[in-house]
Amino acid sequence: MVVGGREGVSPVVVWFRDDLRLADNPALTAAAATGRPLVALFCLDEGGGRRPLGGAARWWLHHSLASLGRDLHARGVPLVLVRGPAEGAVPAVVQATNAAEIHWNRRYDEAGRAVDAGLKARFEADGVRATSHNGGLLVEPWTVSTKSGQFFKVFSPFWRAAQDPLAALRQPLPVPEMTGAPEPGLGEPLEALGLLPTKPDWSGGLRETWQPGEAGARERLAEFLDHRLSHYADRRDVPAAEATSELSPHLRFGEIGVVTVYRAAAHHGDANPADARAVAKFQSELGWREFSHNLLYHFPDLGWRNFQDRFDAFPWRGEDEASADVAAWRQGLTGYPIVDAGMRQLWRTGGLHNRVRMIVASFLVKHLMVHWRVGEAWFWDTLVDADPANNTASWQWVAGSGADAAPYFRIFNPISQGEKFDPDGAYVRRWVPELARLPAKHIHSPWTAPGEVLARAGVALGREYPHPIVDHDAARHRALAAFETLRSNAA
Ligand code: FAD
Repeated sequence: MVVGGREGVSPVVVWFRDDLRLADNPALTAAAATGRPLVALFCLDEGGGRRPLGGAARWWLHHSLASLGRDLHARGVPLVLVRGPAEGAVPAVVQATNAAEIHWNRRYDEAGRAVDAGLKARFEADGVRATSHNGGLLVEPWTVSTKSGQFFKVFSPFWRAAQDPLAALRQPLPVPEMTGAPEPGLGEPLEALGLLPTKPDWSGGLRETWQPGEAGARERLAEFLDHRLSHYADRRDVPAAEATSELSPHLRFGEIGVVTVYRAAAHHGDANPADARAVAKFQSELGWREFSHNLLYHFPDLGWRNFQDRFDAFPWRGEDEASADVAAWRQGLTGYPIVDAGMRQLWRTGGLHNRVRMIVASFLVKHLMVHWRVGEAWFWDTLVDADPANNTASWQWVAGSGADAAPYFRIFNPISQGEKFDPDGAYVRRWVPELARLPAKHIHSPWTAPGEVLARAGVALGREYPHPIVDHDAARHRALAAFETLRSNAA
């Protein structure tokens, strides 16, 4: 059955994936430029080796698709939502609408690339023109390489080499003029994708915190440029300062193009020369996103295999042995206030400040000696920005097993990190309210507070708030000793 195209004019399908936006979307722009009527398509494909999204990301995706659907509808373009392996579901829509062409923006994970390559070959054999575009990165992974033709494993030379292609970076694309094909009557309603949590609905904190969708992304960017970017270099490490862009989930789902963000920061820098350092710092964080995708592309096992294979011999504690500690970590009940504040913020809002991500990740991997994959999986399920490249690269970075990683022997001290980056305890007070009345001097180490100070603050350790589940010095020595076994193995 052919249900889509107008009399004599076959439509073009735009297959949306991690690019849920109309502006600065090369696939959509190219499809619209054909002058043919458009059918927009999204396929929820969680099989075939593709990792199913975590709970928080599913919540985000639901609202992002709702927003995209509204924006397309306002322009007369239908959004068809289908489920199932893309290998079958996408050609079925192309066939049913009698489309002559299909466009998509590229993805960089191995399973996704394999699906796309197979589909491209199949469409070409069927006489359907299939075209892919770069809608997700500033510098695609094959664009830069070392002098010896290898991919970069260290960030600084990677980012230096990226400056050449960046000098020729295109301008962001406007929302194109487009005509929609008649509603093809295919696919399923959004609710049928089952992306929202129901029993129980734990998404209240996410709803209070975020506005998924292209309009929300643009608002975040504008707010960042107007009020935060100037202080970014100095305050980005202070979790209570709210000095970062909070664009990560919007970038993850492609509700705003990275070219738009990079160019907007550059434009701000041109207009405000005093902010040059802040702009360069912010752009280099976008660079870490590029670097992580570069790693995932060239090392597709990044999500489960140590980038440095000497870590294969690391004596992680077993699941049973560590299970109580892992539960305390997840629930924000470790007895270390900055760790607990972070884990509770993550659970409540689906977001977490970068400095605190590093602190909580280091605590799990080093203080508790639990494999980084356990933490990566928890973040995957709870973060709204959970990203196949950034999450895995960052966990391996913290663990010491990654590319250009923090050395294993550098162990974050959760007390001094708290004192340095949350000096008055504002962040801890917000997320660990049972400690809110403790003076700043003791807020990052409540067990050091004299009994009368604890009593005045209404804190009985072991009752309102736990004792530390591990002693910092003992945990540090245990981790270093474990790391030594790797070194002696290598010797
Ligand atoms: P900003 O400081 O405003 O930075 C702008 C953008 O640059 C971010 O939105 C993000 O897209 C990118 N970026 C910033 N820092 C990094 C970084 N270190 N690595 C890669 N990209 C970066 N980021 C994710 O997007 N998804 C994840 O799943 C993720 N998991 C992480 C896990 C751990 C253990 C750690 C330590 C970091 C992780 N990050 C992840 C990176 C970083 O913490 C977040 O991107 C950042 O906190 C998002 O806040 P922001 O948008 O305000 O960042």
